[in-house]
Amino acid sequence: MSGQRAIEILQSVFGFPGFREGQDQAIEAVLDDRHVLAVMPTGAGKSLCFQVPALVKGGLTVVISPLVALMQNQVAILKLSGVKAVTINSGQSRDENVAAWRAAASGEANLLYLSPERLMTERMIAALKKLSPGLIAIDEAHCISQWGPAFRPEYEDLKHLKNLFPDIPIIALTATADPLTREHIADKLFDRDAEIIVTGFDRPNLHLTVEMKVNWKKQLLNFLEGRDNESGIIYCLSRKKTEETAQMLQDQGYNALAYHAGMDQESRTVNQDRFITEPGIIMVATIAFGMGIDKPDIRFVFHTDLPGSPEAYYQEIGRAGRDRNEAVVHMLYGLDDIRMRRTFIENEGGGEERARREHQRLDALLAYCEAPECRRRTLLDYFGEQIEACGKCDCCNNPAETVEGDEVGRVILGV
Ligand code: ADP
Ligand code: MG
Ligand code: ZN
Repeated sequence: MSGQRAIEILQSVFGFPGFREGQDQAIEAVLDDRHVLAVMPTGAGKSLCFQVPALVKGGLTVVISPLVALMQNQVAILKLSGVKAVTINSGQSRDENVAAWRAAASGEANLLYLSPERLMTERMIAALKKLSPGLIAIDEAHCISQWGPAFRPEYEDLKHLKNLFPDIPIIALTATADPLTREHIADKLFDRDAEIIVTGFDRPNLHLTVEMKVNWKKQLLNFLEGRDNESGIIYCLSRKKTEETAQMLQDQGYNALAYHAGMDQESRTVNQDRFITEPGIIMVATIAFGMGIDKPDIRFVFHTDLPGSPEAYYQEIGRAGRDRNEAVVHMLYGLDDIRMRRTFIENEGGGEERARREHQRLDALLAYCEAPECRRRTLLDYFGEQIEACGKCDCCNNPAETVEGDEVGRVILGV
């Protein structure tokens, strides 16, 4: 019955012919009032797993999300489909927030997006109890795990939800696949059996390539040659480097913009909007950019520096090629990157156990960089998925590298 409603809503409201892998299972479980942990890669369509049930159930669905930009992006997208969603957040005026609350409380809005710290106040909890929401969705749920790649202390409080709203199903969503983080999320959020749904992580349309860093500016410019009409993201480790790189690319005639958390909110919004709406813009950014950015036609992601973990890397490259057309992801890494990452881990605090795990993650990423065989296979193997060699990555396509290696070996060995 409700499954039928779900597909009707998918088609009539969102305009999609059918569910993608994992979506129907997640939706069915939620409509059955079960808790759900949905582990699905970036771009898989996690949002619909709570948006469709929100409409099937009616009433109010509360959505927790870690970033203002993310909430605003989702609310705006929902409006385009005619779904009434509102958000209360620090990026809005008091009046806007009051209006949003009225819409949620009166039943006019179906979805209410909140940050965890807005939700977990006594007043908000008391007010929501009166409204008795039909569903609580926790997006980017890995933020609750201190073993995860993006721990947010404000997420910690969400562990009380299961007691505060014992009868309401909770759906937690994340793209972070590593089994330990998964277990942690379920432990914290659920006190009863939860449906855990994990879907495939392979993104066959992404071409994975990695290169030793020699002269990164030159390598970047080489990579960009002929790509001046494509949208892409260039990730840099530091804010300063994003600005300098954007400038360098502008000087070369590219349509490049910078984005980092040190910029004022207005320039960030302007740059983000331009990236999303204008074709052929290159965003040169720190990792502050990208979470929840829903631009289907990003044709490349270029890492000028090594990310901190396979999870972070996977998230960042996952922003490319969401339209399922071919996209290239290229990463540079060098000894300095590795040293810097190790220092970050040591300085980050959080205890020995955390540091040990972070070093392990970094090691796994390095193993990926130096993969002797199919890179995609190495990456997916880390996430617990076995595939055949892809025939598309640089390792599969470029046995030349190995030949070169052999030559070096011959020189060294004198054979
Ligand atoms: P995630 O949160 O998993 O990264 P999103 O929920 O942002 O992914 O969805 C990514 C894209 O996939 C969006 O453009 C969305 O509209 C699209 N999408 C989601 N579900 C479907 C579906 N069943 N059919 C077609 N497109 C879908
Ligand atoms: Mg999402
Ligand atoms: Zn391969």
